[in-house]
Amino acid sequence: MNLQKYARQTSLKAIGMEGQKKLLEKTILIVGLGGTGSAAADLFSRLGVKKLIMIDRDRIEDTNIHRQILYNYSDIGSFKAETAANKVMEINPDIEVEFHNNTFDSSKINLIENADLVYDGTDNMTTRFIINDACNKFNKPWVFTSANEFYGEVKGIMPGKTSCYACYNKKPEHMPSCAVTGVINTLPVNISTFAVNIGMKIMLGENINGDLYFIDVYDIDMHPIKINKNPECRSCSKRKYDYLTPYYSNMGKSILS
Ligand SMILES: [Zn+2]
Repeated sequence: MNLQKYARQTSLKAIGMEGQKKLLEKTILIVGLGGTGSAAADLFSRLGVKKLIMIDRDRIEDTNIHRQILYNYSDIGSFKAETAANKVMEINPDIEVEFHNNTFDSSKINLIENADLVYDGTDNMTTRFIINDACNKFNKPWVFTSANEFYGEVKGIMPGKTSCYACYNKKPEHMPSCAVTGVINTLPVNISTFAVNIGMKIMLGENINGDLYFIDVYDIDMHPIKINKNPECRSCSKRKYDYLTPYYSNMGKSILS
Protein backbone atom coordinates (compact mmCIF):
# COMPACT_ATOMS: atom_id res chain seq x y z
CA MET A 1 0.00 0.00 0.00
CA ASN A 2 1.17 3.50 -0.81
CA LEU A 3 1.68 5.29 2.50
CA GLN A 4 2.50 8.64 0.86
CA LYS A 5 -0.98 9.96 1.54
CA TYR A 6 -0.27 9.68 5.26
CA ALA A 7 2.96 11.73 4.96
CA ARG A 8 1.74 14.50 7.33
CA GLN A 9 1.21 11.85 10.00
CA THR A 10 4.24 9.66 9.39
CA SER A 11 6.40 12.78 9.77
CA LEU A 12 5.12 13.13 13.33
CA LYS A 13 7.48 11.62 15.88
CA ALA A 14 4.57 10.17 17.86
CA ILE A 15 3.38 8.20 14.83
CA GLY A 16 6.13 7.71 12.23
CA MET A 17 6.02 5.01 9.57
CA GLU A 18 5.96 2.31 12.21
CA GLY A 19 2.96 3.83 13.98
CA GLN A 20 1.07 4.33 10.73
CA LYS A 21 1.59 0.66 9.86
CA LYS A 22 0.23 -0.28 13.29
CA LEU A 23 -2.89 1.83 12.69
CA LEU A 24 -3.38 0.21 9.29
CA GLU A 25 -3.69 -3.18 11.00
CA LYS A 26 -6.53 -2.11 13.31
CA THR A 27 -10.24 -2.81 13.15
CA ILE A 28 -12.52 -0.34 14.90
CA LEU A 29 -16.14 -0.89 15.83
CA ILE A 30 -18.24 2.29 16.00
CA VAL A 31 -21.46 1.78 17.93
CA GLY A 32 -23.86 4.60 17.06
CA LEU A 33 -23.35 6.80 13.99
CA GLY A 34 -24.91 10.01 15.33
CA GLY A 35 -23.08 13.21 16.28
CA THR A 36 -19.83 11.91 17.74
CA GLY A 37 -19.91 8.52 15.96
CA SER A 38 -20.27 9.93 12.44
CA ALA A 39 -17.50 12.48 13.04
CA ALA A 40 -15.31 9.67 14.40
CA ALA A 41 -15.97 7.55 11.29
CA ASP A 42 -14.75 10.48 9.20
CA LEU A 43 -11.62 11.00 11.32
CA PHE A 44 -10.70 7.31 11.66
CA SER A 45 -11.03 6.82 7.90
CA ARG A 46 -8.71 9.77 7.23
CA LEU A 47 -6.30 8.62 9.99
CA GLY A 48 -5.95 5.32 8.14
CA VAL A 49 -6.99 2.04 9.73
CA LYS A 50 -7.61 -1.44 8.35
CA LYS A 51 -11.35 -1.73 8.84
CA LEU A 52 -14.34 0.16 10.24
CA ILE A 53 -17.37 -1.78 11.46
CA MET A 54 -20.37 0.50 11.98
CA ILE A 55 -23.71 -0.26 13.62
CA ASP A 56 -26.78 1.95 14.06
CA ARG A 57 -30.48 1.20 13.68
CA ASP A 58 -31.55 4.76 12.88
CA ARG A 59 -32.20 6.57 9.65
CA ILE A 60 -30.95 10.13 9.01
CA GLU A 61 -33.46 12.85 9.89
CA ASP A 62 -33.47 16.52 8.95
CA THR A 63 -32.81 17.50 12.61
CA ASN A 64 -29.53 15.48 12.51
CA ILE A 65 -27.85 17.45 9.76
CA HIS A 66 -26.77 20.49 11.80
CA ARG A 67 -24.30 18.40 13.86
CA GLN A 68 -23.83 15.00 12.17
CA ILE A 69 -21.19 16.17 9.76
CA LEU A 70 -20.86 13.03 7.69
CA TYR A 71 -24.38 13.46 6.27
CA ASN A 72 -26.01 15.85 3.81
CA TYR A 73 -29.62 16.75 3.11
CA SER A 74 -29.72 14.27 0.23
CA ASP A 75 -29.04 11.48 2.79
CA ILE A 76 -32.22 12.12 4.80
CA GLY A 77 -34.23 8.91 5.10
CA SER A 78 -31.24 6.61 4.53
CA PHE A 79 -29.76 4.37 7.22
CA LYS A 80 -26.95 6.03 9.15
CA ALA A 81 -24.66 2.99 9.24
CA GLU A 82 -25.00 2.25 5.53
CA THR A 83 -24.60 5.92 4.57
CA ALA A 84 -21.55 6.26 6.82
CA ALA A 85 -20.02 3.18 5.17
CA ASN A 86 -20.52 4.70 1.71
CA LYS A 87 -18.98 8.01 2.80
CA VAL A 88 -15.98 6.29 4.38
CA MET A 89 -15.30 4.40 1.14
CA GLU A 90 -15.27 7.72 -0.69
CA ILE A 91 -12.94 9.33 1.85
CA ASN A 92 -10.49 6.45 1.92
CA PRO A 93 -11.01 3.60 -0.56
CA ASP A 94 -8.25 1.53 1.07
CA ILE A 95 -10.35 0.95 4.20
CA GLU A 96 -12.56 -2.11 4.54
CA VAL A 97 -16.04 -1.31 5.78
CA GLU A 98 -18.83 -3.37 7.30
CA PHE A 99 -22.18 -1.93 8.34
CA HIS A 100 -25.19 -3.13 10.28
CA ASN A 101 -28.48 -1.22 10.07
CA ASN A 102 -29.42 -2.65 13.42
CA THR A 103 -29.58 -2.10 17.17
CA PHE A 104 -26.43 -2.94 19.09
CA ASP A 105 -27.36 -5.23 21.97
CA SER A 106 -25.96 -8.28 23.74
CA SER A 107 -26.65 -10.47 20.69
CA LYS A 108 -24.06 -8.44 18.72
CA ILE A 109 -21.05 -8.71 21.03
CA ASN A 110 -19.23 -10.83 18.46
CA LEU A 111 -18.62 -7.49 16.72
CA ILE A 112 -16.60 -6.42 19.77
CA GLU A 113 -14.71 -9.72 19.79
CA ASN A 114 -13.65 -8.98 16.19
CA ALA A 115 -12.47 -5.41 16.88
CA ASP A 116 -9.22 -3.95 18.24
CA LEU A 117 -10.96 -0.82 19.56
CA VAL A 118 -14.57 0.15 20.25
CA TYR A 119 -15.85 3.70 19.88
CA ASP A 120 -19.03 4.52 21.80
CA GLY A 121 -21.20 6.91 19.83
CA THR A 122 -24.40 5.91 21.59
CA ASP A 123 -26.81 8.07 23.54
CA ASN A 124 -27.89 5.77 26.36
CA MET A 125 -26.34 4.12 29.40
CA THR A 126 -27.74 0.62 28.84
CA THR A 127 -25.82 0.19 25.59
CA ARG A 128 -22.69 1.51 27.31
CA PHE A 129 -23.02 -1.11 30.04
CA ILE A 130 -23.29 -3.80 27.34
CA ILE A 131 -20.19 -2.40 25.58
CA ASN A 132 -18.36 -2.21 28.92
CA ASP A 133 -19.14 -5.80 29.93
CA ALA A 134 -18.22 -7.15 26.49
CA CYS A 135 -14.97 -5.16 26.39
CA ASN A 136 -14.02 -6.43 29.86
CA LYS A 137 -14.89 -9.98 28.84
CA PHE A 138 -12.89 -9.90 25.59
CA ASN A 139 -10.17 -7.57 26.92
CA LYS A 140 -10.82 -4.84 24.33
CA PRO A 141 -10.17 -1.11 24.85
CA TRP A 142 -12.96 1.38 24.20
CA VAL A 143 -13.62 5.09 24.24
CA PHE A 144 -16.77 6.47 25.87
CA THR A 145 -18.30 9.70 24.58
CA SER A 146 -21.39 11.71 25.41
CA ALA A 147 -22.67 15.07 24.12
CA ASN A 148 -25.61 17.14 25.31
CA GLU A 149 -26.40 20.87 25.25
CA PHE A 150 -22.93 22.50 25.39
CA TYR A 151 -21.30 19.75 27.45
CA GLY A 152 -19.58 16.50 26.69
CA GLU A 153 -17.57 13.72 28.27
CA VAL A 154 -14.79 11.49 26.98
CA LYS A 155 -13.02 8.61 28.69
CA GLY A 156 -10.69 5.93 27.41
CA ILE A 157 -11.06 2.51 29.03
CA MET A 158 -8.43 -0.22 28.90
CA PRO A 159 -9.43 -3.44 30.69
CA GLY A 160 -6.93 -4.34 33.40
CA LYS A 161 -5.25 -0.93 33.21
CA THR A 162 -7.81 1.81 33.80
CA SER A 163 -11.11 2.12 35.62
CA CYS A 164 -14.11 0.98 33.60
CA TYR A 165 -17.57 2.45 33.01
CA ALA A 166 -19.12 0.32 35.78
CA CYS A 167 -16.45 1.46 38.28
CA TYR A 168 -18.31 4.79 38.60
CA ASN A 169 -21.79 4.09 37.23
CA LYS A 170 -23.95 1.69 39.20
CA LYS A 171 -26.83 1.09 36.76
CA PRO A 172 -28.42 2.66 33.70
CA GLU A 173 -30.32 5.85 34.42
CA HIS A 174 -32.69 7.55 32.11
CA MET A 175 -31.02 10.62 30.66
CA PRO A 176 -32.86 13.22 28.63
CA SER A 177 -31.78 12.89 25.01
CA CYS A 178 -30.52 15.80 22.96
CA ALA A 179 -33.98 15.77 21.32
CA VAL A 180 -35.18 17.12 24.68
CA THR A 181 -32.19 19.15 25.89
CA GLY A 182 -30.87 20.39 22.56
CA VAL A 183 -27.23 20.20 21.45
CA ILE A 184 -24.97 22.77 19.83
CA ASN A 185 -23.49 21.70 16.50
CA THR A 186 -19.85 22.24 17.49
CA LEU A 187 -20.04 19.85 20.45
CA PRO A 188 -20.03 16.37 18.83
CA VAL A 189 -17.15 17.38 16.55
CA ASN A 190 -15.12 18.60 19.53
CA ILE A 191 -15.84 15.52 21.59
CA SER A 192 -15.00 13.14 18.75
CA THR A 193 -11.62 14.76 18.04
CA PHE A 194 -10.48 14.14 21.63
CA ALA A 195 -11.98 10.65 21.64
CA VAL A 196 -10.34 9.67 18.35
CA ASN A 197 -7.01 10.94 19.71
CA ILE A 198 -7.39 8.71 22.77
CA GLY A 199 -8.31 5.79 20.50
CA MET A 200 -5.28 6.49 18.30
CA LYS A 201 -2.93 6.45 21.30
CA ILE A 202 -4.37 3.13 22.42
CA MET A 203 -3.91 1.67 18.93
CA LEU A 204 -0.30 2.91 18.87
CA GLY A 205 0.30 0.88 22.03
CA GLU A 206 0.55 3.79 24.45
CA ASN A 207 -0.92 3.85 27.91
CA ILE A 208 -3.74 6.24 28.77
CA ASN A 209 -4.64 7.55 32.20
CA GLY A 210 -8.34 6.66 32.17
CA ASP A 211 -9.43 10.12 33.33
CA LEU A 212 -12.94 11.28 32.48
CA TYR A 213 -12.64 14.55 30.56
CA PHE A 214 -15.48 17.00 31.01
CA ILE A 215 -15.69 19.45 28.11
CA ASP A 216 -17.69 22.69 28.03
CA VAL A 217 -17.67 24.24 24.56
CA TYR A 218 -19.72 27.26 25.62
CA ASP A 219 -17.25 28.59 28.20
CA ILE A 220 -14.30 26.83 26.50
CA ASP A 221 -13.27 24.66 29.41
CA MET A 222 -11.96 21.16 29.69
CA HIS A 223 -10.89 19.41 32.84
CA PRO A 224 -9.99 15.85 33.78
CA ILE A 225 -11.78 14.00 36.56
CA LYS A 226 -9.82 11.18 38.16
CA ILE A 227 -11.74 7.91 38.13
CA ASN A 228 -10.04 5.20 40.16
CA LYS A 229 -10.54 1.51 39.64
CA ASN A 230 -13.27 0.29 41.97
CA PRO A 231 -12.24 -2.97 43.69
CA GLU A 232 -15.94 -3.72 44.15
CA CYS A 233 -16.74 -3.20 40.45
CA ARG A 234 -19.02 -6.04 39.33
CA SER A 235 -17.68 -5.90 35.78
CA CYS A 236 -13.90 -5.37 35.78
CA SER A 237 -13.16 -6.70 39.30
CA LYS A 238 -15.76 -9.44 39.85
CA ARG A 239 -16.17 -10.22 36.16
CA LYS A 240 -19.94 -10.53 36.40
CA TYR A 241 -21.35 -9.59 33.04
CA ASP A 242 -25.00 -8.86 33.83
CA TYR A 243 -25.48 -6.94 30.57
CA LEU A 244 -24.45 -9.81 28.33
CA THR A 245 -27.43 -11.95 29.36
CA PRO A 246 -30.30 -12.73 26.93
CA TYR A 247 -32.44 -10.03 28.60
CA TYR A 248 -30.28 -7.45 26.85
CA SER A 249 -30.48 -9.09 23.43
CA ASN A 250 -33.07 -8.15 20.83
CA MET A 251 -33.60 -4.83 22.55
CA GLY A 252 -36.13 -2.37 21.23
CA LYS A 253 -35.91 1.36 21.33
CA SER A 254 -38.20 1.54 24.37
CA ILE A 255 -35.71 -0.30 26.59
CA LEU A 256 -32.73 1.60 25.32
CA SER A 257 -34.06 5.12 25.52
ZN1 LIG B 1 -14.85 -1.49 36.62
